[in-house]
Amino acid sequence: MTTVTPLRRDGGPFVLPAAFVAGATMHADDARHATAIHNASTGETIGWQEPASAAQIDAAVRAAHDALGAWRATPPAARGKLLRKIAELIEADRARLAAMQMQVSGKPPFEADLDVSDAVATFTYYGDLCAETGAFAPETIALPDETVTGERYYEAVGVAALIVPWNFPMVTTAWKLAPALAAGCTVVLKPSELTSPVEHLLAQIVSEAGVPDGVVNLVNGGGEVGAQLTAHPLVDKISFTGSTAVGRKVMQTAALDMKRVTLELGGKSALIVRADADIDHAVSLAVSGAFANAGQMCSATARILVQDDVYRKFMAAFETAVRAVNVGAPGVEQVSMGPLISQAQRARVQALVEQGVAAGAQIAFSGNADRARGAGFFMAPVVVAEPDADNVLWTDEVFGPVACVKSFRTDDEAIALANATRYGLVATVVTQDAGAQRRYKAELRAGLVWINTPQLIFPQVCWGGMGLSGIGRELGLAGLRSYQELRHTVAAAG
Ligand code: NDP
Repeated sequence: MTTVTPLRRDGGPFVLPAAFVAGATMHADDARHATAIHNASTGETIGWQEPASAAQIDAAVRAAHDALGAWRATPPAARGKLLRKIAELIEADRARLAAMQMQVSGKPPFEADLDVSDAVATFTYYGDLCAETGAFAPETIALPDETVTGERYYEAVGVAALIVPWNFPMVTTAWKLAPALAAGCTVVLKPSELTSPVEHLLAQIVSEAGVPDGVVNLVNGGGEVGAQLTAHPLVDKISFTGSTAVGRKVMQTAALDMKRVTLELGGKSALIVRADADIDHAVSLAVSGAFANAGQMCSATARILVQDDVYRKFMAAFETAVRAVNVGAPGVEQVSMGPLISQAQRARVQALVEQGVAAGAQIAFSGNADRARGAGFFMAPVVVAEPDADNVLWTDEVFGPVACVKSFRTDDEAIALANATRYGLVATVVTQDAGAQRRYKAELRAGLVWINTPQLIFPQVCWGGMGLSGIGRELGLAGLRSYQELRHTVAAAG
C-alpha cells in the first residue's frame, strides 16, 4: 500500500516529496531547493515541491528496471484488471481530482471534470484491451514454404520514461501510463513542475489499486530532471509531450542509445468554414477550439479559414460569441475560460501578440476579462484578422487565447493555406457538402480531421501528428504498440 500522502485534505499548503520510488516517498536532502506551486487563478502559493536529485532519478529508473521482469510476465488480463481498478478509483475520487485541477490550473469546473472523465475512459479502454487476447496473443504468419512456420508477437519495450506538460496533466499522463502498463512496461513519470500535485494524486491511486511497487515511479523537477531521466542508460523508451524545441532535445538524447521515442508536440491547426456551413455551429466550434483550456492546447484552433461569401456573417457572430466568453476563476458563476498557467506563460503570449501587431497584424476584436479579478494569470481572448502569411501569430504556436482568421475563395486555396505549416496535428472542416468532406479528409495534412464536430477525443482514436507535431501515435491500438517491440520467429515445421 502507498505511503504517498503529499496533499493535505484540508486544502492547506503541502510539500510534494522529491520522488516516489518502489512504493515509498523520497525527500530532498536539502528542502531549501523546493519550488513553489501556484494557484493560477489567484497567483497564491498553494504548496511546494522538492526536486529529485540525480541519485533519486537513478533510484527511480533502477526500481522500474528491477520491477520489469515480474510485471512483463504478469498475464495481460491481470494487468487489465488493475487498469480497470485504477479507472474505478479515479472515478470514485472524481471530486478531489477535479478540485485539484481547478486549484492548480484554474480550469473551469466543466473542463476539470472532463479531464477526469478522459482519464477514466483511457484506463478503462486499455484495461479492456488487455482482456482481448488478439492484442497480445502471438499471430501465425502464412509463409510460402511448408517446411517452416512463422509467428509474430509483441513484447513490452522495457522501462519507459514518461514526460508530461502542464496543460492537461492528468490526461496526458493517462494517455501514456495506461498503454505503458497494459503493454507490460514499467515507468518513471516526470510531471511538469507547474502541475505536479495532480500526478502525485494519480500515483497514489495507482498504488492503491494494487499495482506492484516499482512498476510506477515518479520524479519531481524541471527540465534538468527530465533531461537526466531521458539520458539514463536503463531507460528503453521515452514518451514526451511538450514543445517542439524540447522534443528535439529528447530525440537527440534518445539517439545516443537508440531509445524508442513517441513525441507529441505542438500544432498550428486550421478550422475551415465553407460557405454552406451552419454558421452558428461553425462559430461554436471556433470558440471551443480556440479558447478551451485558455487556448493552451496542442490542438488549438489557431488558424480559422472562412470562405469569403460568409466571412462577414461569420465574423459578426464570432465577435458576439467571443465577447460572451466569461473569463474567470473556477468559482465564478458560468465561467467558460480560466487563466493561463503561469505569469511567465501569460507574458510569453502577450509578447507574441505585441510582436505580431508590431509586424502589421490587426486585432479584429477581443473578449474581456472584467470578471477575472485578483492576481491570477488571466487574459482576454484575442482575434486577429487577415495577418500576413509570415506574421508570427499566423506561423508560430502561441499556446494561449489567440486565434487568427483569414478568408479564402476556393477549396484549393483553403487546403493550400491549411497545409502551409510545418505542423500537422489536427484540422476541422465545417461543411454539409459530402464531396467537399471527402476531399478535405483526403488532402488535409493532419493526424486527425474532425468534420462538423467539436474536438471529440476517444481513447479508441489515435492522437498524434505529422511534421513538427511529432512522431508516433498515442491512444488506440497504436498507442499500445508504441510500448511494445514487434518480434518474429521462423521455425522448422514439425
Ligand atoms: P516544455 O516542452 O518545456 O515542457 C514539457 C515537459 O518537458 C515538462 O515536463 C518539462 O519540465 C520537461 N522538459 C523541459 N526540458 C526538458 C529536457 N531538456 N528534457 C526532458 N524534459 C524536459 O514545455 P513548456 O511547459 O515550457 O511550455 C512551453 C511551450 O511549449 C508552450 O508555450 C507551448 O508552445 C508548448 N507546449 C506544447 C504542449 C503540447 O501539448 N504540445 C504542451 C506544453 C507546452 P518542466 O516544465 O517541469 O520544466
